[in-house]
Amino acid sequence: MSLSPLRTSLSCLLLLAAACSNAVAGPSDAVAENPSSISAPGSVAQAPASPTTPSEDVGQVPTTPTPTDTETPTAEQPVATTPDPSASVCAPLSSLASLTGDLTTWLQTAPITAANSGGFKEPGGTELAAFEGAFRALLTEGPTAQVMQDLAGMGYGVSTFRNATGGGWLVVREQGLLSRGGGTFIINLFPARDLWLEAPHADSDEGTLRQTATQLVTLGARALLITGSNRCAVTTASPCSGTTSVCGTKGLRISDAAHYGNTFFTAAHRALRATYPDAIAASIHGMDAGDGPEAAVVSDGTSAPRPEALSNRLRDALNTHLVGTKKAFSCNAADDSGKHRDLCGTSNVQGRIDNGAADACFTEAAAASDRFVHLEQSATLRGTGASSKAVIQALADTVPCTLTGSGLGCQAVVAAQDCP
Ligand SMILES: [Zn+2]
Repeated sequence: MSLSPLRTSLSCLLLLAAACSNAVAGPSDAVAENPSSISAPGSVAQAPASPTTPSEDVGQVPTTPTPTDTETPTAEQPVATTPDPSASVCAPLSSLASLTGDLTTWLQTAPITAANSGGFKEPGGTELAAFEGAFRALLTEGPTAQVMQDLAGMGYGVSTFRNATGGGWLVVREQGLLSRGGGTFIINLFPARDLWLEAPHADSDEGTLRQTATQLVTLGARALLITGSNRCAVTTASPCSGTTSVCGTKGLRISDAAHYGNTFFTAAHRALRATYPDAIAASIHGMDAGDGPEAAVVSDGTSAPRPEALSNRLRDALNTHLVGTKKAFSCNAADDSGKHRDLCGTSNVQGRIDNGAADACFTEAAAASDRFVHLEQSATLRGTGASSKAVIQALADTVPCTLTGSGLGCQAVVAAQDCP
């Protein structure tokens, strides 16, 4: 059981649930954990992972302090102690490879294989389940030796990333020569909002990689999922319902992270959803707005009108901040009749998952959960000017600060935003 205090502390770091401080203070044997028990980088053998044998189904094992992000932690409640993070919390992170710099800038070099490059290899079914399980364990337990080993077996490694200006993230990315176009996934150690971002078309929807990387850091979102392949990287057709002619021929491809479920991208999405059932996932896209009146088209993953939809709130927030004559429209507002682009994300696989579709690949969701929002944007919004800032501001307005990290308009509760 000597591991449990470490786990507890790390979970606190990862989850930043207000209740964590209680959990840390609780166990009387909590004092002893020292960095000495942490494996050296690259060594997986000796981590004391066994006592609480993580099974596939770790979920909420009682030994782990239940992540309480679901219970709207009151923003004022201080994370009382942030118990001396130097040794117990930061040590396991320090066993990871460490990157420093500017995360937003660095992420713009995230590897994405090119169109028609053949650069997407579908993971096997057992790998997808294993990746989802490992990613989930990473979110709940941190980078334990077991997690590191499981991910390494699928070609993935985990590093820490620290900005000079503060903040800390875990970077989950393909290692070595084994790239399968699997994607790059970032977990924020100090999130402020119960929100994560997805860039399934990070390269082809030009600007959305820079945008989402900026949003992750600026908003204090929980995570960012970046595709590892251009949507047209391979010619193999995706069996999922939906259509496009963006790849030159009609039809979806399996390298399209938004339109095929058997990807590490979708496995990471499922892990995030299982861990944070109430969080909002925002899928960020770009469209050719043509001569239409749309600066943006927002949807909840369906095209059903629903006055109280999250997408309508995001639309309103966008229209508050957008400059210029073009406006944001919602797929879920009956009165948005001026919209001529029907880009409602109803075939988006991650949206279908969040909306409880019977089969995320084959069937559209009947109703929306308000946990998923799909944003299509004109090129102007995806640029670097005032309109791009309007998008960040609108997201900030729409998703409140309910966690303890720092983010735009949030009052950070956590004292230490970095490990020494
Ligand atoms: Zn797109």
